[in-house]
Amino acid sequence: MISLVQKSGLFSFSIFFFVAGMQLSGQPLSAPLVDTIIVPSEQRVEKYVNKSILVFTPHPDDETFAMGGTLALLSKNQNNIQIIIYTNDNKGSKDLMMTREKLAQIRRTEEEEACRILGIPAGQIHWLGYEDGDLEYADPRVLRGRIARYIKLFRPDVVFCPDPGNQWVQWHKTDHRMAANITQDAFIAAEWHLYYPQHYLDENLEPFSVPEVYYYYSQRPNYEVDISETFILKARASAAHVSQFEPSTSNYTPEMSDEVFQLIHDGFKMRNTNESGMIVERFRKR
Ligand SMILES: [Zn+2]
Repeated sequence: MISLVQKSGLFSFSIFFFVAGMQLSGQPLSAPLVDTIIVPSEQRVEKYVNKSILVFTPHPDDETFAMGGTLALLSKNQNNIQIIIYTNDNKGSKDLMMTREKLAQIRRTEEEEACRILGIPAGQIHWLGYEDGDLEYADPRVLRGRIARYIKLFRPDVVFCPDPGNQWVQWHKTDHRMAANITQDAFIAAEWHLYYPQHYLDENLEPFSVPEVYYYYSQRPNYEVDISETFILKARASAAHVSQFEPSTSNYTPEMSDEVFQLIHDGFKMRNTNESGMIVERFRKR
């Protein structure tokens, strides 16, 4: 969840971003690069073609906000992208007339529109359907098995997911902690058939070891993707999550004014511009 803070009836020019409770105002990017990994140019994410990409996201918006530019680039380059969404995000509204059922539907529609803008069809979005804020109360063994099954099913060349090495426990929203840790644990469970033998016995899904992982929302990113050419798609896809931004969060409307769009565009541009002036998204490459 992300929202713009309204001040005295006017949106503050210095945009305050909150990503699930974490104020990112004043931070140009999620965190400074550390221990930068040098990858040969032909092996960089910008050059990926025809790869199988699996993306895990706690809510229907985190992947857009964290890596929408990268997703648009991967999609443009003919990679097959599947998105697994842990929760239905059905509680993040301050509109007293909103219901959980209605919000879940709104969030689904917004996610499908955001993905359409990024070049990902609705059929490639997979909803696990857990209630917003309740992921940590799901049975972890069952949840890990569901994730391991998706890994065995899609056999991705690359996985993108939240960074479990982050300071989640200190400050982050419950669903992010759980999604980060469970996804990481599922890598191991997918590798060894005796963790969930029914996957092979019932569905003939063989074990699979994920070759490459990029963590988003990292406090220790070591890799950045140049999203200059797709940034506008990230801005438009982010803005498609209308209900995540004021005034729609407090008084739901599916419409978005040009002024709010511009704030979203400028806010992400500020956050995604690195010290060299390049528009990037940062990850921790495993
Ligand atoms: Zn989230």
